[in-house]
Amino acid sequence: MIHNFGAGPCILPQEVFKQASQAVLEFNGTGLSILEISHRTPEFEAVVDETVRLIKELLNVPEGYSVVLLQGGASLQFSMVPMNLLGESQTAAYLDTGVWASKALKEAKIFGNVNVVASSKDQNYSYIPKDIEIPEDSAYFHFTSNNTIYGTELLEVPKTNVPVVCDMSSDILSRVINVSDFDLIYAGAQKNMGPAGVTVAIVKDSILGKVDRKIPSMLDYKVQIEGGSMYNTPPVFAIYVSMLNLRWLKSKGGVAEIEKENISKSVALYKEIDRNPLFKGTCRPEDRSRMNVCFVMENPELEKPFLKFAEDRDIIGIKGHRSVGGFRASMYNGLPITSVHVLIDAMQDFAEKHR
Ligand SMILES: *Cc1c(COP(=O)(O)O)cnc(C)c1O
Repeated sequence: MIHNFGAGPCILPQEVFKQASQAVLEFNGTGLSILEISHRTPEFEAVVDETVRLIKELLNVPEGYSVVLLQGGASLQFSMVPMNLLGESQTAAYLDTGVWASKALKEAKIFGNVNVVASSKDQNYSYIPKDIEIPEDSAYFHFTSNNTIYGTELLEVPKTNVPVVCDMSSDILSRVINVSDFDLIYAGAQKNMGPAGVTVAIVKDSILGKVDRKIPSMLDYKVQIEGGSMYNTPPVFAIYVSMLNLRWLKSKGGVAEIEKENISKSVALYKEIDRNPLFKGTCRPEDRSRMNVCFVMENPELEKPFLKFAEDRDIIGIKGHRSVGGFRASMYNGLPITSVHVLIDAMQDFAEKHR
């Protein structure tokens, strides 16, 4: 068995892969492959409906919010959010906590003014700025809940009266959230929800329709919502596999149950990082991510040998992003806790060899 700690696209449950592969050959008694069936058939419309329903159920999405499936990844949301919510003469507040956050605010500058309310760039994004002040006249406040590359996570929504927009790409469905704390949540599926190719947005309906710029139909949340996530041909296979993965999550007991598992996984790995004299974490302990655990070695020369040592035990995907170096173990919902223990054992055995 391979232990895939890749950051995204990432591991999904094996049973999801099996069911998905089956549907490529024959989908749901239709005699057709999921890849050839029309997206306008009742059979496929049922897939979209169930996907949206499961997201609403698993995240407890309240009345007044729409769940819509989009394309273009989280990166297109960086533009779509300001295009729909930021008037030309308005200012949006952004929290700069990493590569994705700074890419998001760069796009917003195309559409209006951006106020970076705080940034942790001064210390290579190794912490989450605290006590941030969000001006009351901001069009909205944008933050990234989990910083996939640097391994920090913001579990509590900063207090503000302005609409809150969150890039939740890498921790959506990993922990219980209160959707009503947010006005817009978006996430590329490939970190925790499904395969690459579909992007989910959870939008409070009342925040739309307030800017007077012309918005291309494909980039207009209203048009996409009214089109029932099928304004144009949707990414049928990505949606289907997401549905299977959401069913799996529900069968596991839902988000509250998986959150417990995610806490156990991350506590175990951070404990080893803090205990083992060869390794050290790169982030401020109180801001550490449960999803992406970043760490380096006290002696950088041992990093390559450890990578090889881990690979020999079928541990893959732990090489850190080039902007942090070292290692990053991504532990999304689909990664079993047994894989985390294999990694911990490898760290201990390696330390034993290099005493
Ligand atoms: C991966 C990632 C993105 C980019 O997602 P794409 O779907 O590739 O555009 C944006 N934000 C966060 C937090 C991510 O982890």
